[in-house]
Amino acid sequence: MSDTSSALRIVWIYPDLLSTYGDQGNALILRRRAELRGIRTELVRVLSSDPVPVEGDIYLLGGGEDRPQILAAERLRSDGGLKRAAERGAAVFAVCAGYQIIGESYGDDADNPLPGVGILDVRSGRGETRAVGEIVADVAPELGGGRITGFENHQGRTAVGPSAVPLSRTVTGIGNDGQTEGAYQGQVIGTYLHGPALPRNPHLADLLLRMRVGDLAPLPPSWGEALHQERLAAAL
Ligand code: GLN
Repeated sequence: MSDTSSALRIVWIYPDLLSTYGDQGNALILRRRAELRGIRTELVRVLSSDPVPVEGDIYLLGGGEDRPQILAAERLRSDGGLKRAAERGAAVFAVCAGYQIIGESYGDDADNPLPGVGILDVRSGRGETRAVGEIVADVAPELGGGRITGFENHQGRTAVGPSAVPLSRTVTGIGNDGQTEGAYQGQVIGTYLHGPALPRNPHLADLLLRMRVGDLAPLPPSWGEALHQERLAAAL
């Protein structure tokens, strides 16, 4: 009989609404880097028609266009499962539209403020210009530092409130406001780094794993580090 109770549960929220940019890569790399350390994983895909389970370990939310973003926020708010999971200490990694909707509020396509899920103290509104292109940023030292790279494509700009901390400082690109990129609060992380941000930044994947499983054995350098270095060299 297989024992599923101790598997690390990775919950991918609403792939039908929030997965415009290859966001599945984040789930795959988390599983791979956990399993290389002998940690069993389970990937739970939660469609927007389904309830969000509260007993997951790491919750992933991807990017999306304005309308699916609004729908996702409404459903997550009425479901309540993601908020309860975060309150229980689950880790959350949310990208772009996902980042905006786990905040306190975000702007619709006419910049009317709409309520978010409220698990990260950020507020987003629309910027004058669309932020599109490669982004490089330095992660907060309290999170272990390190340079991250990604691709951003968003109209929104985000103000980080007093209960949250910027995830990183931008080297190139816009992120929240041209100065900082993303935010975190406890085990909840939001970022504008798109799609497969974790394959491009394996140390960020390990940061999330460590939040749930503690110390991790180092892994030999992989194509993940090679990709990270290649994108870093291309962006700067
Ligand atoms: N609709 C949001 C914005 O433009 C998020 C877009 C996205 O996820 N790429 O700011």
